[in-house]
Amino acid sequence: MNDRAYYTDSYTSQFDASIVEVLEIDGRPAVRLDHTYFYPTSGGQPHDTGRLRQGNRAAQVVDVVVREGDEAILHVLDALLTPGSVDAAIDWPRRFDHMQHHTGQHILSQAFIRVAEAETISFHLSPQSVTIDLDRADLSAEEVRAAEQLANEVVWQNRPVTAREVAREEAATLPLRKLPPGRGGRLRLIDIADFDLTACGGTHVNGTAEVGLIKVLKTERRGSASRVEFCCGARAFADYRAKHDAIQQLSAALTTGLAELPASVDRLQDESKTLRAELKRQQMALLRLEADDLLRAAEPLGAARLVRRVLNSRETAEARQLATLLAAAGGVVALLGVAGERAQLIFARSADGPAFAHMGELVKPALAVLGGARGGGGATSAQGGGSPADEATIAAALDVAAAQLRAAANLVE
Ligand SMILES: [Zn+2]
Repeated sequence: MNDRAYYTDSYTSQFDASIVEVLEIDGRPAVRLDHTYFYPTSGGQPHDTGRLRQGNRAAQVVDVVVREGDEAILHVLDALLTPGSVDAAIDWPRRFDHMQHHTGQHILSQAFIRVAEAETISFHLSPQSVTIDLDRADLSAEEVRAAEQLANEVVWQNRPVTAREVAREEAATLPLRKLPPGRGGRLRLIDIADFDLTACGGTHVNGTAEVGLIKVLKTERRGSASRVEFCCGARAFADYRAKHDAIQQLSAALTTGLAELPASVDRLQDESKTLRAELKRQQMALLRLEADDLLRAAEPLGAARLVRRVLNSRETAEARQLATLLAAAGGVVALLGVAGERAQLIFARSADGPAFAHMGELVKPALAVLGGARGGGGATSAQGGGSPADEATIAAALDVAAAQLRAAANLVE
């Protein structure tokens, strides 16, 4: 049954037809028309969408499929229609996008053969991306650029694109890029004048210039193959427009031209790296000063020194650094607390003692003051918290630990 009117005319997007069969596919209504220009999903190209209208009833065509067995084209609808005449409309921007990409794919596939001896082994077209897989894993960037260049030259030459049907025996004698497997029957050939001849059932433009533009977006290795992502026509233009807008914004923000943008960003990244390192150095110097101040104000604790301080809204990592600096001074116990939404107690003791001060044991009763916050540690360092606590509560928790320390210090003396 040959009801595929798009085989000979891929530009008709509105037509009258008759519903000759009504059926159901997976619970959805579907119809067969006496002839149709709707393209069914096949050969890597997605189906058309559109609508069928019958008097004042209309149904959207949500899927188009080929029935196994008799190869009939079935239009899956979102509403029930009855046998009789319909006027049909195909979503033209979607169809034309498919035509531009399918023709663009033929051109690009032939270009890769000529430039890199790379054969196309599969083709994928979706609203999000269009790709071909090539049978070479080691494509160079130069080969990809050369194929892209040749493909666009073929677009600019506006070569005619024609379709014709031939017997398989005849097709076997022609220089086809791709001969589908099978025996007998007739094959539909797509001929891009003096450039590419291949068997294909898809929809194509009439002249290569209608493809508009072919741009390779990405190449990636896939096992023993390469996947080339590209876009054509309106999609390529939309992509160019979006990238141009982004570049304009970047150029204005960095007050530099397109050519200088990469170097400009490199410079900014270097600068930011240097500044971050400098900032870290300065912060460390400030922390050392703060540690010195705290050590000068330390309370005696037997032969050792006790530093107790509530820090307000400080990063936990910074408070930990401060505790480490204090402990490094020798013979010091540092009880630090950070008040705030995620309050923390940070206790540290010098490696050389005092031996009676065990930070892990000290932090537990102090955390109990915070309402049972979680935490713990070993002899020389301990930490805990995580829940909100104000300055007064943190001070009370440090008092509990300090009192315990003093008691222990007196016992030792
Ligand atoms: Zn095709």
